[in-house]
Amino acid sequence: MMIRFAILPLILALNFSMCKKNPSAEGSSQPAVSSSPSAGASAGASPGTSAGPPSSPAKISKPVVDQTAQTIIFCYHRLVDKIRYPGTEITPAAFEAEMQQLKDAGITVITMQDLLAWKRGDKNIPPRCAVITFDDGWKSQYEVAWPIMKKFGYPFTMFIYTEGVRGGSLGGGEAITWEQLADMRDNGVDIQAHTATHQDLREGHNIMLAAPGGKRTRTKLTGPQYEQWVHNEVVGSKELLEQRLGIKVNCFAVPFGNYNEHVKELARNAGFEAMFTVYGQPITFTSPLDSLGRYAIEANKPKVFVDAVKMIGTSSGGAAAVAEVGAADLSTQPADGSTVHTALPLIKANLSRVSGIEPASVQMRVSGLGVVPVSYDPKTGTVLYQVTQKLRGDSCTVIVSAKAEGKKVEAHWTFGIDATAAAAAKASPSPTVKK
Ligand SMILES: [Zn+2]
Repeated sequence: MMIRFAILPLILALNFSMCKKNPSAEGSSQPAVSSSPSAGASAGASPGTSAGPPSSPAKISKPVVDQTAQTIIFCYHRLVDKIRYPGTEITPAAFEAEMQQLKDAGITVITMQDLLAWKRGDKNIPPRCAVITFDDGWKSQYEVAWPIMKKFGYPFTMFIYTEGVRGGSLGGGEAITWEQLADMRDNGVDIQAHTATHQDLREGHNIMLAAPGGKRTRTKLTGPQYEQWVHNEVVGSKELLEQRLGIKVNCFAVPFGNYNEHVKELARNAGFEAMFTVYGQPITFTSPLDSLGRYAIEANKPKVFVDAVKMIGTSSGGAAAVAEVGAADLSTQPADGSTVHTALPLIKANLSRVSGIEPASVQMRVSGLGVVPVSYDPKTGTVLYQVTQKLRGDSCTVIVSAKAEGKKVEAHWTFGIDATAAAAAKASPSPTVKK
């Protein structure tokens, strides 16, 4: 969704040196074997652990989220009075009018993090929501869009490609600065990743490289050279944002929406919880987190916005009610509120107390992973999943759902992950997990 990159000199030398500097220190930690579901989150539980008080380790303390809610995500680029590139520009007046239309249509603008919390089953959102995002990091997003958003009291997310910010000439004088981003951060704006140099991330596609002197070459990378390059695009850009701004980056917008399974895997392993394209679609509770579509708003296609609003305009419930089952009744493992000392736990629940389960309907969602391939034994009622890809963060929420006697039933629980202990225990031998 960006034309600008074509006219930007790219300082790839910086990328490569950064790549060497940051060989993902935590990537080497081994899975630990000991998962001690010590009852109750320990006193040192981190703020991210949303477990109940230690005295009641197996109590569900979460709201039952509205699974029929829907969200549309908008993607804007540049706000300018004179449109020269309608594909990525919009006038401030048109932008403001659209923000007003959301209000008039009764659509609540929520934060990206609330959207993700809802999808994890952690937080409820209103029935009809929108998330506003701005791509690439243009100065006009700071100077023009932000004041308008403040006027409406709307939160929003910035998707930044880091080379634009760090090289003055790269932004053509119109890129946002680190200082402006820090100002936004301090005022609650969500800042997320959009690669380093904003190019097609798929192996073997045309990209632009820049030599130390600034000379640019159009080329196609494959093999180890490609891997090094794409690592910096996906992981390096995330680390740079996190280090420069002291933030946690968990969202990744893919330039032009061009990616594939390999890129998705890199992003997941880097700790991105959600990935975004530009293929707009309403986001539902079950939309896969690795391809959330956004409506890219272009100056000469006002219908895109109108249609997007219409898409969720008529949603008013309709889905069957969900019966909540207490996690304690399912003898979950790890137990609700417990803390494990491995990033690769075995997740287990026993559904035998729920009668009339349709085996094919049994599903498990794990925060950060989405729907996982569980095994379910109808005889014992055991549903289990061995996590094969390290869980990130200090807590993990699991949602097990199934259809039973024609009704949807589900259970949510959250356990803590003591990553430092997991890393410390790496000396103990454990089976290597193949990725
Ligand atoms: Zn972009």
